[in-house]
Amino acid sequence: MRILITNDDGIRAQGLISLVEVARRFGEVKVVAPDRERSACGHSMTMRDPLRVTEHKWDGVEAYEVNGLPVDCVNVGLTVAWPDGCDLVLSGVNNGPNLGFDITYSGTVAGAMEGTINGIRSIALSMALFVSGAPIHYETGATWLRENWSMLVEAPLRPLSFLNVNIPSIEFVEIRGHRVTQMGQRVYQDRVEVRQDPWGRPYYWQGGVVVMETNQPGTDVQAVSDGFVSISPISLDWTDQALRSELEQSMRRVDATV
Ligand code: MN
Repeated sequence: MRILITNDDGIRAQGLISLVEVARRFGEVKVVAPDRERSACGHSMTMRDPLRVTEHKWDGVEAYEVNGLPVDCVNVGLTVAWPDGCDLVLSGVNNGPNLGFDITYSGTVAGAMEGTINGIRSIALSMALFVSGAPIHYETGATWLRENWSMLVEAPLRPLSFLNVNIPSIEFVEIRGHRVTQMGQRVYQDRVEVRQDPWGRPYYWQGGVVVMETNQPGTDVQAVSDGFVSISPISLDWTDQALRSELEQSMRRVDATV
């Protein structure tokens, strides 16, 4: 199995290293990852600047660092590392959760989206940390992934779909299992903070405290809060089919009254 691994925390990130160590047991791994952290870049791609690719020394693994974003890394990877294509794109393991609306901001998820667009089975992996600054249990993610590799890699997927996996950042023995979930909601409070620079001019910093909604059964947020690994099938077909039918009906009526 030919595997391309990327992330949005940069090529030196511990989560990427732990993912490579698991994946290389199951196939031939090539790493193409950003040269620095690029979290929350979403599905951006670099178009106005050249991309530079540097070989990155990695014992027994072909690896490249790119001065770009996860999307760039997947596309450059399919040019430089796997010009004849590959069988699996793995993105992560991110040093924080990608739950609910996070997936629209996430560079980790964008790596999996780009793999999917290229027709390759893709999986985004994240450690769901609950307390800021607490240690991230990458070893839990690695153990869980090793034990559930074939379940994930052989899961039925549709052409436009990929898997978004969040592993609770707790001791492995505390993991209660896994759940197949739907996208939940995460609400941020005080999203934009106003501060002052030394000259008294205001500046703004986005971040904010996450208020997790844990009372929605079946969601990714609920699963990780309960100590389960969350596996969400995400589709790149963003069309709201139910609304489309409803719109067709309502707009036909409007049309008929003219
Ligand atoms: Mn990240």
